[in-house]
Formats: sequence, C-alpha cells, structure tokens
Amino acid sequence: MPATERLYYNDSHLIEFEAQVTDKTDRVSGWTAVTLDRTAFYPTGGGQPSDTGILGGVRVLECIDSEENGVLHVIQGRAPEVGATVKGRIDWPRRLDHIQQHTGQHILSQAFVTLFNAPTRGFRVLDDSCEIDVELTNPANELVERAVELANNVIWEDRGITIKSVTSEEAARLPLRKDPSRDGEVRVIEIEGFDLTPCGGTHAYRTGEVGLIAVRSWQRAKGLTRIEFLAGGRALVDYRRANQTASAVAGLFSAARDDATKLAARMLEENKELHRRVRALEEVSANAEAAELLAQTSPNPEGTRVIATIFDHRDAESLKRLALALIVHPHTIALLGSRENEAARLVFARSTDATGDMNALMSEACVALDGRGGGKTDLAQGGGKNVEKLGEAINQAAKTLSPE
Ligand SMILES: [Zn+2]
Repeated sequence: MPATERLYYNDSHLIEFEAQVTDKTDRVSGWTAVTLDRTAFYPTGGGQPSDTGILGGVRVLECIDSEENGVLHVIQGRAPEVGATVKGRIDWPRRLDHIQQHTGQHILSQAFVTLFNAPTRGFRVLDDSCEIDVELTNPANELVERAVELANNVIWEDRGITIKSVTSEEAARLPLRKDPSRDGEVRVIEIEGFDLTPCGGTHAYRTGEVGLIAVRSWQRAKGLTRIEFLAGGRALVDYRRANQTASAVAGLFSAARDDATKLAARMLEENKELHRRVRALEEVSANAEAAELLAQTSPNPEGTRVIATIFDHRDAESLKRLALALIVHPHTIALLGSRENEAARLVFARSTDATGDMNALMSEACVALDGRGGGKTDLAQGGGKNVEKLGEAINQAAKTLSPE
C-alpha cells in the first residue's frame, strides 16, 4: 500500500482537504482506523500530540503514525467506505496551539545552544505547558531568563521559517542543531539566521506567530535541567491565571498587586512573633489556673491533692500544659479530661513526690473510653471515642489513688 501523502509537510496551515479512503480497520477500542491517500492530519510524534478534527462528517479522535500503513485516523462513528472521496478538516485552534508550542521549542532550544552551548535532549507538550530537558549544568534563574530573552527577541524579529528537503550527505555538511533521526531524505526546518534542525513536525510560517515564550519553572532532573515553558496562547492563559492569583492575594491585604509578597512576608513574621507571645501568655495562664485549682482542692488523708477535672473542647497541648503547671507543686496529682463531640482526651500526671502509676491508670481509663493511651509512671496521655464514660473513667482513677 502506498504511504500516505503528508500534506502538513508542505503546508502546516492547511485546514481543509479532500482525500480517498485507502483502507479501514477495527481497533480494539471499538473505534475504526481509516487510512487515506493524503492527509493534513498530523499524527502523534516528535513530542507533538496528534491533530483532531472531522473526516467524512465524523469525529477524528486521534491520529497514529504507523510505519507500514501510513497515518491512521481513529474515528468515532460510521466509517466511510474504502475508495470513497472524503472531506477532512483539522481543528485549527488545537493545531495553532501545537505550532506555537513546537516552533517555540525550536527557538528556545536554539537560544540555550547559542548562549550556553546546551543542547536539548527531550521535549514534551503537556496539557497546559511544555517541557524541554536541556544539558545546562549550572542552572540559575538569570541564565534561564537570558535564554527566554533571546528567544523572544527572535520571535519579535519575525524571522522567516522555511522547510527544505536534503539528502543525508547534504545534511551531514549542514550545521544542524541535532542529528537526523532517519536515513535518506532529510526534512530540515530553518529559522532564518538562527536555527537549522531536522524535524517532521508542524511549524509557524514566521517566528512572530509564536507570539511569546515564558518559562514557568525549572528543576534539575536526571543530570539535565528540566524547563517548563509556555508559548503563544498558553502563555496568555498562564499570565491571566498568575495575575488573578497575585491580585487575589493582594486583595486580602487591600494592597497593590506587586506589594503583596512584601506584605505576606511581614504578616508571617508578625504571626511567628504572636505565636511566641501566645505561648508565653498560655504559660502564665496555666500557672494561675493551676494555683486556683489547687486552692479549691483539699488534700486526701495521705496529704496529696488529687485534681480531677473535665473541660470542654480543650486541646491536648493545653491540657498537658495545665497538668505540668499543677505537678510543679508538691504532693499533687492531676487527672484532667477534655470532652469533644466525638472524642475524649485525658492527661494523668503526678509530682515527683506523689505516688501512683499514671501509665497503669491511663491504660485502665482508656479501656473504659474504648481508646488508647500510655506514657510513664509520672505522666501519661490518652483518649477514646466513648465520650460519655469520661467522668466515670476519671472517678475510677481517683478512687484507685485514694481508696476510702
Ligand atoms: Zn519541529
């Protein structure tokens, strides 16, 4: 079967075409793959996703490059008959997006070569951005931005982009940015006075069509520098989103957009300072609360004050802080509980001169609460979901400590 004539090779901006159906086969997916004598549909390859569109009135979901059968058009719907003449139309916004990303990649990759002698080893068009893996050994924002600057200058100079076919011998004599991946006829893409690369993809007529290149981020990856960039319409979409985010953050501070970072940094600093002050005040308040609780509690016959109290909605840290403030005082045991909607928590603690195994008491209490907990003989923490048993569990622990 003759190979499909690839119309996109000669004209990347051809949207509509007519062709004859040469074959059709059923796919495991349930769809049908149609081959044509000629096509403007670009199949997935070279880091560029395939075109979509309409063929013979039905939807083309994907195009696949099959070495022996040419371009397979995977269609959703009734397949045309072999031999029929059909009209095809590619989705232009998607093709233009791919042209911008792909041509943008040629330009950005050459910029890294021109400035830092750093070739590109990989390229991917992702859902909303693109990636290149560059042999840039010491990446830094400043270096990446210099390449972005050069790439955009080449775009704004609106240089011509031409395609020529050369033999592999001729190709070997050309200063190509990368080696051709196939033997025989080589398709070379030339960006006037800037870049010469063998490639089978779809490109802009002139660099101006790419519009803009912006780098969103970069990172070291497998010995290379992975650069996430966006070209053309994608750069505009990303700018809008970044602007909305920055403006929304600034709005929280009632500030101008570009002042937000400074204000957010200041707020975080103030927040840290407030946390320090709150911790100090909590310390003071726990001491005062402990003194008050001790004053209200009479010692048992052994001379020990057992403070058994239940609070509502008191977090574990606050409960423990109060227990520690209590057991600073001699002959003191704290049996503290806190009641939440769905859970109860406990802290049992004793001063060094008091007697009693807090760990053993806690284990017993946690059985009643249907939970878990533990610790040492002088301090133990725990909790459980049986909230209504909290009072009972604490009374039981108090009773164990002071049997009548
Ligand atoms: Zn290309």
